[in-house]
Amino acid sequence: MSTPLKIARLNANQSDFAQHLDALLAWEGVSDKAVNDRVEEIIAAVRKRGDAALVEYTGRFDGLQVSSMADLILDRARLEQALERITAEQREALAVAAERVKRYHEHQRQESWRYTEADGTVLGQQITPLDRAGLYVPGGKASYPSSVLMNAIPAKVAGVPEVVMVVPTPRGEINELVLAAACLAGVDRVFTVGGAQAVAALAYGTESIPRVDKIVGPGNIYVATAKRAVFGQVGIDMIAGPSEILVVCDGQTDPDWIAMDLFSQAEHDEDAQSILLSPDADFLDAVEASLNRLLGELERESIVRVSLENRAALIKVDDLAQACELTNRIAPEHLELSVADPDALLPLIRHAGAIFMGRYTPEALGDYCAGPNHVLPTSGTARFSSPLGVYDFQKRSSVIFCSPEGASELGKTASVLARGESLTAHARSAEYRIKN
Ligand code: NAD
Repeated sequence: MSTPLKIARLNANQSDFAQHLDALLAWEGVSDKAVNDRVEEIIAAVRKRGDAALVEYTGRFDGLQVSSMADLILDRARLEQALERITAEQREALAVAAERVKRYHEHQRQESWRYTEADGTVLGQQITPLDRAGLYVPGGKASYPSSVLMNAIPAKVAGVPEVVMVVPTPRGEINELVLAAACLAGVDRVFTVGGAQAVAALAYGTESIPRVDKIVGPGNIYVATAKRAVFGQVGIDMIAGPSEILVVCDGQTDPDWIAMDLFSQAEHDEDAQSILLSPDADFLDAVEASLNRLLGELERESIVRVSLENRAALIKVDDLAQACELTNRIAPEHLELSVADPDALLPLIRHAGAIFMGRYTPEALGDYCAGPNHVLPTSGTARFSSPLGVYDFQKRSSVIFCSPEGASELGKTASVLARGESLTAHARSAEYRIKN
């Protein structure tokens, strides 16, 4: 048996709890000067030399030597081939997930609207999709076909005419599942480039890669730093921190289930965070015992151990109401309400990326196939932001149509305000339209 896990045990009423919680939640997005400098250099090279720089960096960072950019382009026919190559079971699972994700996101589509004021002025909001979206799919250490579905399907549901995807293929190893997911999600073209160079290409365009309006998708430090650097020239979704789960449990769920739910975040990476809140101290003991007993059964045991020992906590609360208060303070990416009556707690929750209700709704189902998006605000940003959705690929334009009567009436108000600001042209522009 391996060494027992050293997991923080806290009580929400202990006098130094606030300091412990702050330390537990502290997360500094890495900002490394050497990485920044390298990313700036890569972006500048892609802007200057386009495809030639992409070919060169792909050789250097992905160990893939090609003679021209043509070798790094995959068209729809190749994506369809990938869909044929995967197993029937995988094809079926991807299709089920894609269909459910699509159906959920169709509910999010915003519609244009307008109304008419008493003076005949028509006011409204016109909704339009982005012209082109770019999807970054990480391909270095791990590949996630589910991320392809979650990022590309909302864009397509929003009506984005062209979705292009970039994915590094280290040493030329192509993940057929990722390409099959791209095929099902309606991705139009794939370029097998990655890192900061791929982000730069999407932001500025090269001879082969079209410039996009928004870049979405997760990636490593080089990708995140590049996204931050090009933001403003192009839209980005977010800079995601490590994954997190917060479980609120009344003590009546099988402790093994809760242990596995905590593991399911911890296995993402060493910085992932897993926290359990319960009013039942015996239950916290039982979950700790389950964690120790089940750990050795995991393929990623060593990652899970580091994550749990550095960033996990089992916290005793007075009652479920206190658990909800604490939840709002933490604003977790994923929240499981593993209780008999989750609906009774839901109105108390103000800040959480996704809320998994009841004992039979593990976060893992949401990661793959429940339907809602798995790209969620992390590191407490659920206080002010929302899951990736169709609305991220739609824009709003204000629409104003004045009748002659409306212009005459509004012109009087505008003229007074414009003269107060000494903006004569504004005032006269409005006054020309005032009826005598
Ligand atoms: P990646 O595709 O993000 O990065 C690989 C690229 O990094 C390479 O193509 C290369 O261009 C660049 N690179 C590597 N070393 C470099 C160096 N020394 N100098 C310049 N560029 C270099 O793949 P990854 O590395 O496996 O990282 C994937 C990341 O995405 C992980 O951090 C993972 O946690 C995260 N992720 C997050 C989610 C989510 O939903 N939050 C989902 C999937 C993955």
